[in-house]
Amino acid sequence: MTIQVQFFGAAGEVTGSCHLVRVGERRILLDCGLIQGDRKAEARNREPFPFDPKSIDAVILSHAHIDHSGRIPLLIKSGYRGPVYTHRATADLCRTMLKDVGSLSEKDAEWENRKRERKGLPLIKPLFTIQDAEAAMTHFKSLDYGQQQTILPGVTLCLSDAGHILGSAIVELWLEEKAQQRKLVFSGDLGRSGMPILQDPTPIRTADLVLMESTYGDRLHRTWEQTLMELRGIFNETLANGKGNILIPAFAVGRTQEILYLFAKYYKEWGLDRWHIFLDSPMAIEATDAYARNSELFDDESLKLWRHQQEHSLLPNLHFTRTAEESMQINRLRTGAIIIAGSGMCNGGRIKQHLKHNIWRKECHVIITGYQAYGTLGRALVDGAEHIRLWGETVRVAATIHTIGGLSAHADQNGLMQWYNHFENHPPVMLVHGETQASAGLATRLRNELGAPVHVAVSGATQDLSQPIPVT
Ligand code: ZN
Repeated sequence: MTIQVQFFGAAGEVTGSCHLVRVGERRILLDCGLIQGDRKAEARNREPFPFDPKSIDAVILSHAHIDHSGRIPLLIKSGYRGPVYTHRATADLCRTMLKDVGSLSEKDAEWENRKRERKGLPLIKPLFTIQDAEAAMTHFKSLDYGQQQTILPGVTLCLSDAGHILGSAIVELWLEEKAQQRKLVFSGDLGRSGMPILQDPTPIRTADLVLMESTYGDRLHRTWEQTLMELRGIFNETLANGKGNILIPAFAVGRTQEILYLFAKYYKEWGLDRWHIFLDSPMAIEATDAYARNSELFDDESLKLWRHQQEHSLLPNLHFTRTAEESMQINRLRTGAIIIAGSGMCNGGRIKQHLKHNIWRKECHVIITGYQAYGTLGRALVDGAEHIRLWGETVRVAATIHTIGGLSAHADQNGLMQWYNHFENHPPVMLVHGETQASAGLATRLRNELGAPVHVAVSGATQDLSQPIPVT
């Protein structure tokens, strides 16, 4: 009898989420995410999958973030023919996000090939194209939260709200093989209680094995009150000290909408009426539209604010800049602009242009609002780099860099502990989606305080569910 799970990505690291569940002959892939980081890390996306894509029977996608969804078009290009089960809002968001990855990948290959041609080197192909992304979307099968579905003989699936981004799901899987039954729970990425817009992560009561994220497993976030004070402080300080521009590198999905929500809610209090606010990212604009289309998933307070917003514009000075020309016009503004642009880790997208025009000016500010992977430009800024490289040019960092950890869309150590503690039987837990130190920090607390049988997933390793899992 085989019921097992093998860890292929986001084991000992954060990005590239991908786990393979085997139930007898049936094979189910949990997530198929892109590896993000420096060039070397991202080159791993081109390596063949460590399993035969044709042998997979079903894919389950926890949420739309590309470190969970970004290699699905590649999986399909490599021969996968089955369905991709996910929440309907995730499917809605993926339509935009996967196409964006395809488009970036086409542009990257074009750029690289121009260099290669000059050097007489063989040309490369894009990781996947916009067309591949569109083809991948035809495999998506949408589900609602709480809807139990048998997806293969002896494999039943249910998604619950993970409260991380719109459509994000905790995956419950009931697995049956030769009269043996096991329940596997995959946390996906877990959100935080009380986060703007979204519901709190759903407590799950039972499991035989939990795969749990540990991004912030060794850290505590600042409280909402502290975070809101910090943000207000930045806006007020910038107004008092000559008022440069404020750049907010933002993840298109989740963080951007959260920031816009806070701007609408604290418009007067933060003096935002004295700024021009730009959402300078076509993808973030499309994602914001997807949030609007799925507003019934919002929590009560946000739904109220959203309805109010539809009647009276709460952010009259918010400009959506879709075209490259509109984006370039912002570069002329020396003062009074709040620019929200992707990518969130500054390793691509329009934010790089804005950094070029503002980062060397001491009256400007950069607000970092989320996790920054090793090797990214955003991580260099957080780590206090005095100079950065932009398109081969060295640029001085004179702007003030603020890191607002409290806006994270991930549960912190306490949040993760609380979510796990809802399991009545304190089942074995495998930690994924965390840098080594973060996973180790959470493992220690889970073991010491809750007596949890906890392991940190190792890339390539297999966990057998058909036998009792030894306690460490
Ligand atoms: Zn995520």
